[in-house]
Amino acid sequence: MRYQISNINEQNDYRVLARKYRPNDFSELIGQDTLVKTFNNALNKGRLAHAFLLTGIRGVGKTTTARIIAKALNCIGDGSKKDPSFEICNNCSPCKSINNGNFLDVIEVDAASRTGVDGIREIIDSVIYSPNNARYKVYIIDEVHMLSNAAFNALLKTLEEPPQNVKFIFATTEIKKIPATIISRCQKFDLQRVDLNTLSNHLKNICQNESISHESDSILQICKASEGSVRDALSLLDQAASLCRDDIKEKIVLNMLGLNGYDKNIELFELCLSNQCSDALKVYDDIIQNGVQPVQIISNLLEISHLASKINVIKSDNSMSEPTHKKISEISKNGLPKLVRLWQILIKSFEELKYAPNEQQAGSMTIIKLCYGSSLPDPSQFLEKISEQTNTQSENEQNKVSETPNSKEKTIKDNITNYKEEESENDQTKVSEASHSQDKLNKEVIVNNEEKLENFKIPETFEDMLDLLLKNRETLLHAQLINNVHLISFEEQSIKLRLKFKSDTEILKNLSSTLEKITKNKWKVTHSEEGGEKTVVEKQKIELNQQKEQIKTNPHFAEVFKHFPQAEITSIKDKESN
Ligand SMILES: [Zn+2]
Repeated sequence: MRYQISNINEQNDYRVLARKYRPNDFSELIGQDTLVKTFNNALNKGRLAHAFLLTGIRGVGKTTTARIIAKALNCIGDGSKKDPSFEICNNCSPCKSINNGNFLDVIEVDAASRTGVDGIREIIDSVIYSPNNARYKVYIIDEVHMLSNAAFNALLKTLEEPPQNVKFIFATTEIKKIPATIISRCQKFDLQRVDLNTLSNHLKNICQNESISHESDSILQICKASEGSVRDALSLLDQAASLCRDDIKEKIVLNMLGLNGYDKNIELFELCLSNQCSDALKVYDDIIQNGVQPVQIISNLLEISHLASKINVIKSDNSMSEPTHKKISEISKNGLPKLVRLWQILIKSFEELKYAPNEQQAGSMTIIKLCYGSSLPDPSQFLEKISEQTNTQSENEQNKVSETPNSKEKTIKDNITNYKEEESENDQTKVSEASHSQDKLNKEVIVNNEEKLENFKIPETFEDMLDLLLKNRETLLHAQLINNVHLISFEEQSIKLRLKFKSDTEILKNLSSTLEKITKNKWKVTHSEEGGEKTVVEKQKIELNQQKEQIKTNPHFAEVFKHFPQAEITSIKDKESN
């Protein structure tokens, strides 16, 4: 979405709210409470560093904050202020000059234009001279990560023995490119992306001040598009206000952001999920016809898959309008494994799109991949299938004398077909179709599987119980149990656990009620402080490395890797204990 915003910034035939509402003191810095509090504390305790490092995404207010700090260091108020202070008057001569950008003792440097050691040498040489007319000489070095190693080394010497009346304020979007030796000599402040609520309240206040009326969701869309950058949000608000003549309509904002027809994107995602490839391609072409770029479509689909996965876990999210929330909730019911798989396809395609000679073709290939991907089984389901298949097969091999050499590969393919049918969630059709069109062998596999879901045995071990939860798609609970729970004892329908995080007591309640629901029997789940076993994940990690190499030589796994060349072994379960 970023590329659209930069285009908008180039137009300036509106009132430039970003400049008008640029914060002048700490109280006006929105969404940066931690920074403000920390700076105030350091100031009160007289523990101000010689150098500050401000990090954060572009547009989050680093330069503005740097100027506010420079004013706090130099403000003299009515002339009586002797020390730096948190309250800034914006009225004294240092404050005014800093606001106008013509204060001689505040030197702003863009590191991008002075990457080399010579550029920085000029600054370092001037450091030794006292301030002209101020408490502190302040060097604000923007994009400091652009400096070369030699320049950083030269700077480091000054930071090691800084002159009394000099302060440095570094700003960067890329903290990782700054040497640790520099970072360790700075007081570091992370400027946060401003959260959706704070940002939208800020914009609503500005609208009120400026007598701009607006539909509530229009402001929400602007805030989402600005991704937590106040500057971008204000630029977008500017443009929306000017387009809508100070009466902002959601529809026009969506158009402006290239998000019109977002519903079409949801429809497209749904078609991909249900493997209706030809309809999906039609909808994709429609969206393209409306002038939306393929990269924007993929980006929208990524957002949909993210929102659906999130809702699958946390159930509600107030960043969406109500109708959208309803649709996304519906999508979330497809389950995490499937949603995560589509996310992976999308994120990879998003990268590939940059290098594709024809974006539109690459986009439609992505749609095909999504449809195909949504119809595949998970590698874990697939493994289970093959094992069951092989067991049944070895029993049947005695009866079946003639087999073609390719029969094994064929049955694996048949299994994929079975899965496609199972995912169609039409059990009756599935069973009856199977009895007509599949061979006897495959029919047995399906029936076996269904029996497993319905006629379970009451689990006798913790591992059996975990398997039962998985088969009943209690994925989240399963994940919580294997990661955050130490088993103490597992007896007849009575489980004693130690929780890794004491506050996780929800897990106990959920486990007992879920087991009761599945097994139609009462379960007692209690917490105790006695040590207990390692968590399942901890145990798996220990075993995993030893078993990984050995297991890869197993012909069944070799088969899996043939079909899923990018598969990784992430967990190993002992089949015999099932
Ligand atoms: Zn002042």
